[in-house]
Amino acid sequence: MFWKTRPLWGNKPKLKSSYDVVIIGGGLHALATAYFLARDHGITDVAIIEKRFIGFGAAGRNTAIVRANQRTQYNVPLYKDALDLWPVLTKELNFNLMFNNCGNLNLMHSEAAMKAARMTIATAQFHGVESHLIDAKEAKELVPALNISEDITFPIHGAMFHPPGGIVRHDAVVWGLAKGCAKHGVHIHQQTEATHIHTEGGKITGVTTSRGRIHARQVLVSAGGYSAGLIHQMLGIKLPISVLTIQAMVTQPLKPVLDHVVSSGAITVTPTRHSREKLPPVPIWTSGPTTPPRTRRTTSSTRPKRCRTGCPVCVG
Ligand SMILES: Cc1cc2nc3c(=O)[nH]c(=O)nc-3n(C[C@H](O)[C@H](O)[C@H](O)COP(=O)(O)OP(=O)(O)OC[C@H]3O[C@@H](n4cnc5c(N)ncnc54)[C@H](O)[C@@H]3O)c2cc1C
Repeated sequence: MFWKTRPLWGNKPKLKSSYDVVIIGGGLHALATAYFLARDHGITDVAIIEKRFIGFGAAGRNTAIVRANQRTQYNVPLYKDALDLWPVLTKELNFNLMFNNCGNLNLMHSEAAMKAARMTIATAQFHGVESHLIDAKEAKELVPALNISEDITFPIHGAMFHPPGGIVRHDAVVWGLAKGCAKHGVHIHQQTEATHIHTEGGKITGVTTSRGRIHARQVLVSAGGYSAGLIHQMLGIKLPISVLTIQAMVTQPLKPVLDHVVSSGAITVTPTRHSREKLPPVPIWTSGPTTPPRTRRTTSSTRPKRCRTGCPVCVG
């Protein structure tokens, strides 16, 4: 049986010719900005202009890992607040964001990495964020699939364990925030591309979109990786930002083997489990000089068939 469903964020609103604020892009940053502008500042005459559909960009294609054990004293408090916000938002938006604080395990493959981890942990602990250094045996107790033998390409010396971190369902966050925005009267315009930003006397006056011109005195370019290019193209301002591509690889559904997020900064692989039990390891490689290393030993029957990464989790 088929029936017409109404999006969580209401029916398609009419594009007005003027808004107090126009936000270009329909990703997490745009939606969160609009939501908090409305919730905390009472600014509700806001239009979100999205070229494709909300969550089309990185917001709908990431590995969904959330954590607060960052490296510097400046970003730890920010990430701590963000981590504490997930359960609050879940209630407030009345939408299950599938936040699962299953804990993050960051593997270390050398004594130098262990030393660096001690510094990171000390910073986290100083700001009241739970994070510990554990040895390889303790890591194995947490994740039995780990191979802690010494004759593998990247032997595990220990790990940084961060229990309050975990995963949140990325597209649920997009939909939940969109629902919250609409509740406050924010207009979400999908299939609408911003093509030009107008200025007069050095001040913003509006935006031209593929569906017409909008007057607005406040415009936020929140187009993720496209932002710097758009600002250059539309306003002639060259920002010192360059965009790097990172990729996520999703396996076929496999029997779940991980109860925690496991990552390895050294080999830039993060095998993690999809929030719907069925999609386990999702290795990602960041861009840059690192290429997936070759595996020396290939023993496990649980290992994904075509995995040749040398990842210490797959060879368990
Ligand atoms: C592979 C991968 C893995 C990641 N893993 C994690 C992770 O585990 N944890 C974490 O916290 N972060 C992760 N991130 C980062 C996170 O996904 C991004 O920081 C976040 O999604 C960026 O959101 P955004 O709203 O800024 O941009 P986006 O979500 O990219 O949204 C930008 C939007 O702008 C729209 N747009 C572009 N041009 C125009 C235009 N002219 N007019 C209108 N709309 C336009 C696009 O269609 C797009 O929808 C990952 C990213 C990637 C790529």
